[in-house]
Parts: sequence; structure tokens; C-alpha cells
Amino acid sequence: MLLELNGVATHYGRIQAVHDASLQVDTGELIALIGPNGAGKSTLLNTVSGLLRPVAGRILFGDKPIDNWRPDRIAREGLLQVPEGRRVLGPLSVEDNLLLGRQALGTRKPTHVLEDIYALFPILHERRHQSSATLSGGQQQMLAIGRALMGGPRLLVLDEPSLGLAPIIVRQVFDTLRLLRQTGLTILLVEQNADLALDISDRAYVMEQGRVVLTGHSGALRNDPRIREHYLPAVAETIFPA
Ligand code: ATP
Repeated sequence: MLLELNGVATHYGRIQAVHDASLQVDTGELIALIGPNGAGKSTLLNTVSGLLRPVAGRILFGDKPIDNWRPDRIAREGLLQVPEGRRVLGPLSVEDNLLLGRQALGTRKPTHVLEDIYALFPILHERRHQSSATLSGGQQQMLAIGRALMGGPRLLVLDEPSLGLAPIIVRQVFDTLRLLRQTGLTILLVEQNADLALDISDRAYVMEQGRVVLTGHSGALRNDPRIREHYLPAVAETIFPA
């Protein structure tokens, strides 16, 4: 097991946003975390990457308990999060942004070099000398993923990579994630679009109101009536047109 959460609880002050969450990610898996707005998905990811500290429970990465570690130490261990909203550094060039990603390597060996990122995202090669602020939303998402890859992730964590992107760009980003998974990269993905998430992932966890309420293989979850009713209206419409 690469990542294991047991009974994790996270608060914002007195508000409890995550209750008793348990989740596992095995090496090589692509795991999706789905659920409605405000279910606690981002809070759980931010707890894993150390931006928030759990008040209860255990988080093991590899065999190490990381729930008390600072985010930079967790990143240097190879648990790398691509944040929601991307947050690339505008004034820096695309290439300098990518090179910054190497800081997370610490003493570990790189898994990806600049050429690998440019092969995955040719548009970043074309724009490599431009300021990142001039990139479109989709290109910024690619840059943020590329930067995380430059840090040699053992686990790549993504929070809503489809947010605000045009459908054709979403497809490109998800095709790249699928490709990365095929190369053996382990991925934990939060995604609002359950259809996409279940399509791309091996297994999924469903969160509601701060709790993990359902988990299983993504193919099986797609056919689960509870998922179909609440999260896959588009699929239901295609199969049962009005
Ligand atoms: P979304 O898709 O909207 O981001 P989510 O499932 O990721 O939803 P979270 O963002 O983790 O949900 O939010 C979980 C709960 O915690 C919500 O009730 C939210 O209002 C609350 N919350 C999130 N961030 C904060 C914060 N900084 N301070 C206080 N409460 C917060």
C-alpha cells in the first residue's frame, strides 16, 4: 500500500469538515474521490498533503506516518499535489516554472525531465519562454501537472483538474492522466465530474457531508443505482432518453 488513511478527522476551527475517513491507494492505481460540493474532498486532499493537520487518525505514506509532517517535507517524500486553481507563478516563464518543480526532489532521483514534460504537453514547449501568466487556463493546468512531475512524484494528487476548462481541454488533460497511469504513476484525483472520474479510475471513494459513504471498483460504481441516481444524470439520460 502506498497511501493509507485510517479514521482521519479534519476541522476548520470548530467546524468538522472530515469525519473518520479511511482510504487506501495501492502503487500503480488511479483512485478517484467524488462527491457533491462541500463534501470534504479538497479538505481530505489538503490533509494528505499536509496543508491541513488532522485532529484524529493516521496517514501512512509508504510506511511512514506523515500526519504530523509539514507540507514541504511531504512533498520531498514524493507526495505531490497539483492544487485546485493551479497556482502557477505568473511572472516566471513556463520553463522556469517547470524547473522550480525540481525543488521537491530533495535527494530523490527525477522521474521526469523537461523533455518528458514537453513530449506530454507540446504546447508547453512552444510557449516555454513565455510568461506563465499568458497561458490559457488549460495550458496552466498542464504546466501545474508538468511542474509536479518534475518533482518526481511517487503519488500525484490532483484537485479538480477539469475545473473551468473547456470540454476538449478536459479530454486532453484526462488523456494525459490515463497515459501517466499507464506508465505506472500512482494518482489520487478529486473530480466533480463523476462520469469522467469513474471512466478514468480503477477504484473510487464517494464522500458526502465529510464522510466516505461508498467505495468500490469504478466499473461497479458506475452501475450502482445510488451513483447513477445522484451523480450520473448525463449517463442516465443517454441510456433512457426522455
Ligand atoms: P468543492 O468541490 O466545493 O471544493 P469539497 O468536497 O472539496 O467541495 P471542501 O472544500 O473540502 O469540500 O469543504 C468541506 C466543508 O468544509 C464545506 O462545508 C466547506 O464549507 C468547509 N470549508 C472548506 N474550507 C473552509 C475554510 N477555509 N474554513 C471553514 N470552512 C471551510
